[in-house]
Amino acid sequence: MNYSLPILGEEDNDFAVHKIICIGRNYAEHAREMGHDPEREPPFFFFKPQSALAQNNSAFIYPHFSRQVEHELELVIAIGKSGTQIPVANAADYVLGFAVGLDMTCRDIQKEAKNMGRPWELAKGFDGSAPCTAIQRGSLQDLAQYGDLVLTRNGEEVQRGNWRDMVWPIPELIAEVSRYIKLEAGDLIFTGTPAGVGPVAIGDKLEASLEGFSQQLTLKVAK
Ligand code: MG
Repeated sequence: MNYSLPILGEEDNDFAVHKIICIGRNYAEHAREMGHDPEREPPFFFFKPQSALAQNNSAFIYPHFSRQVEHELELVIAIGKSGTQIPVANAADYVLGFAVGLDMTCRDIQKEAKNMGRPWELAKGFDGSAPCTAIQRGSLQDLAQYGDLVLTRNGEEVQRGNWRDMVWPIPELIAEVSRYIKLEAGDLIFTGTPAGVGPVAIGDKLEASLEGFSQQLTLKVAK
């Protein structure tokens, strides 16, 4: 199976997705809403398998094993070259572009895993749990023209945040992740969710956007 995302304006060239890295608790307000103190606990990361990836406008199948699926609206960074131990000062060189994604989460399964001291994979890495728009090729300087991340559920705004409020800004999170694991061309980094995570239900329509960005992520929740 070839997992890829379109690159905007490049019909003959896809972004072949390698691994999906997700940053946890990268916005102080979200850390607080989950019951954690952002002053005491730095962000961290985890992974989703390639099979979690879903292209824009695909149906989101509500996982049969959960009763509490929640949306997490996230800026996604596409990595364009490989590296380890990347210094913060060089991190921008590793960015190929960006996108808007949702880190769909089975909150009930996640809570159960936390309580039992088990891994989160099922709560976070199920099929279709990482829907993502096409990639906009661009630098961090290009990103600076964009505003808030906004998510609507059935036309009503449910989540809004600004990527400038990340605890680990993009260069730092690239440096942090690459301290421990190799970043490779084709990796996607879901950079964490701002506050306002909440439930989704079968029949919902979610629309995720980044102010000023041409692409909107549209997700219909189906059985
Ligand atoms: Mg997340």
